[in-house]
Amino acid sequence: MKPAVFAYHRPTSVAEAVAHLADHEGTARVLAGGQSLVPMLNMRLWRPSALVDINEVDELDDIRVDGDRTELGALVRYATLERSAVVAERLPLISRIVRHIGDRQVRNRGTVGGALVQGDPTGEFPLACLVLGAVVTATGPGGTRRIPLSELYVGSYATSLELDELVTGVELPRHPQHIAFAELCRKHNDFAVVSAVATGDRDDDGRWHDVRIALGGVADSPVLAVDAGAALEGTQLTDADLAAAGRAALQVIDPPTDVRASAEYRRHLVPVYVRRVLTELRAAGASSPQGAGPTDQTSSAGGGQP
Ligand SMILES: Cc1cc2nc3c(=O)[nH]c(=O)nc-3n(C[C@H](O)[C@H](O)[C@H](O)COP(=O)(O)OP(=O)(O)OC[C@H]3O[C@@H](n4cnc5c(N)ncnc54)[C@H](O)[C@@H]3O)c2cc1C
Repeated sequence: MKPAVFAYHRPTSVAEAVAHLADHEGTARVLAGGQSLVPMLNMRLWRPSALVDINEVDELDDIRVDGDRTELGALVRYATLERSAVVAERLPLISRIVRHIGDRQVRNRGTVGGALVQGDPTGEFPLACLVLGAVVTATGPGGTRRIPLSELYVGSYATSLELDELVTGVELPRHPQHIAFAELCRKHNDFAVVSAVATGDRDDDGRWHDVRIALGGVADSPVLAVDAGAALEGTQLTDADLAAAGRAALQVIDPPTDVRASAEYRRHLVPVYVRRVLTELRAAGASSPQGAGPTDQTSSAGGGQP
């Protein structure tokens, strides 16, 4: 199928883009990489009155650093994140997870802003931003506001953004010392059935601090297992600690049944994947000299049964 008729705008500034969105009173859509938007248009699931194509808005494609903080512009592509030395050094979790998104074509076009606004519950990028405590910046006719990623999603593929707001970027605070990531996909680079990320810092005595665990594919949007992470404060991540965290993570999930897996199977996977990422996190901490900077342990399963 082909899209229904729409007007087309190609602004060159954020102000101009927001003005077009306001003119259409919430009936226009932003076009960034088009990887999710264009299929929805072609299937006529969405029929916007206009597209506001932001690909010529140069001010949106920078990666900026400021002390511990790193800001990714909304138009930064997955492929740029994948290749960036700055991202590899400052945001190793982003650098690793982005390789698990789609295929080369999707990563060449897909953008930071598009990934966050699309809000796929299995999306690796929103998952990583959630665990890292990211804050989204958005500009609308009334000005600019900052939205913690943990407050961005209000339902399945639904955000708290106004329809005339443009996401301009995402800010990431100091990156944790250690990270681990694992996901189960039915085939390489497919959307995940379940994904899990763990981050944390380890002190000289081998005790862990600020452990955070996030899960994808098991609720309307990526979720933080807050209590599971908090219970690990000051522990040495013993096997018993890990098993308890796996059980605690079940409190925050509400898994769907879909073409990839049943809710029951996803429920079975969550404690398995929480233990898996925490085991990898523990290994990363043990093998890294203190203060040597961020390390990661990454694994993915391509269809095997855990
Ligand atoms: C074959 C295929 C495989 C894929 N596999 C994966 C995968 O494994 N993992 C994964 O996470 N994703 C996957 N995706 C989805 C892909 O990551 C998303 O399509 C992409 O991240 C969306 O970014 P985009 O720039 O293409 O957004 P677009 O498609 O242009 O836009 C998506 C939505 O965001 C809105 N939008 C875009 N930018 C802004 C902005 N700056 N401000 C406000 N609204 C905005 C649009 O209006 C639209 O509603 C896959 C997609 C395809 C086609």
